[in-house]
Amino acid sequence: FSSKLPQTAVSIFSQMTALSNTYGAVNLSQGFPDFPADPELINLVTEYMHQGFNQYAPMPGIMALRQTIADKQEYLYRVQVNPETEITITSGGTQALFTAIGTVVSPGDEVIIFEPAYDSYKPSVEVFGGKVIPIRLQAPAFKIDWNEVEDLISDKTRLIIINNPNNPTATVLTQEDLAALERLIADQNIYVLSDEVYEHIVYDGRVHQSIIQYPGLRDKAFIVASFGKLLHTTGWKLGYIIAPSLLTAEFRKIHQFNVFSSNTPMQYAVARYLEQQERYLNLSSFFEKKRDQLITGLKETRFNVLPSQGTYFLLVDYSSISDQNELSFAQYLTKEYKVAMVPVSAFYSGTCNQHLLRICFAKKEETLASAVQYLKKL
Ligand code: PMP
Ligand code: GLN
Repeated sequence: FSSKLPQTAVSIFSQMTALSNTYGAVNLSQGFPDFPADPELINLVTEYMHQGFNQYAPMPGIMALRQTIADKQEYLYRVQVNPETEITITSGGTQALFTAIGTVVSPGDEVIIFEPAYDSYKPSVEVFGGKVIPIRLQAPAFKIDWNEVEDLISDKTRLIIINNPNNPTATVLTQEDLAALERLIADQNIYVLSDEVYEHIVYDGRVHQSIIQYPGLRDKAFIVASFGKLLHTTGWKLGYIIAPSLLTAEFRKIHQFNVFSSNTPMQYAVARYLEQQERYLNLSSFFEKKRDQLITGLKETRFNVLPSQGTYFLLVDYSSISDQNELSFAQYLTKEYKVAMVPVSAFYSGTCNQHLLRICFAKKEETLASAVQYLKKL
């Protein structure tokens, strides 16, 4: 049997969560909240189930939810999006990413990604016969050099994938970054896949820059979002994708045979819940408190904290503690110090050791406090 993904193993998130469970550690590895979703939202789901909304949703998603998303785009970014032709509800961000990649990538096409990169991008490109061209970004700023990107563009380049705010670096792109990207692909047959699943989680007064606000990008872009991040419901696997109508039509051709449609009662519940648009606005301050609690705690340890501008992650540098590689050190910490984190090397192709680990702080106050207690023993 000839594997399509010979290099791909079980994801680092599954690995670290399993190790954490085995050793009874505090699991700050895989990115998911350990606190409950809003009971009001859960009641809405069960209400719709009892009302009989339990059969297939329309293939592109229920209109009420697509309209809610269009209203949000107008409210937050001052842009009009057509819910009929430009928005599709998906089974999480992951399925949106995979299907979008399949929509534009053919065998031999090149896809530029920035590393550290979210783990699904590379295998998804490779399944469709594409070739990943990675650009390595360096700690601590992980700044993109757009001249380097320009140098790597070839006549085979079909897609550039960006992730803003970024998992795992917790950096956010600036207006200058997006303007540079816009200039770079003007008059080129290159699409952009913008993974914005953490769009509502940015810190210190920052304002998220969506690619939708840049006309030269919007016409060529897929924008991916996830309700798992917004509503603390990563297990619901519900998200959406925005793309211009021609791209959306092609996306849906694949989507309909990939999943056909996504969970019906949850779509109705989320549409109702998000009628209150301020719900998008509370998330940053909610997570900023958690970030700050963790940073304060980590100051009493030997870890060096890198800035977190967005997402619910932050990176720590352990070079003053150990010179082990990141995976070994993460495993050691889980077993011996009962705190699980993710090695940043897992987000790079090829070897890499910057002595960095990623911590997820979407956790209860007491979870973060107990992790800090363990880490202080180091
Ligand atoms: N992109 C990034 C950057 C993510 O961090 C995640 C989830 N951790 C996803 C996509 C996938 O989203 P979902 O869980 O909705 O599939
Ligand atoms: N996105 C989550 C993270 O970065 C994990 C999602 C998954 O396990 N596939 O930790």
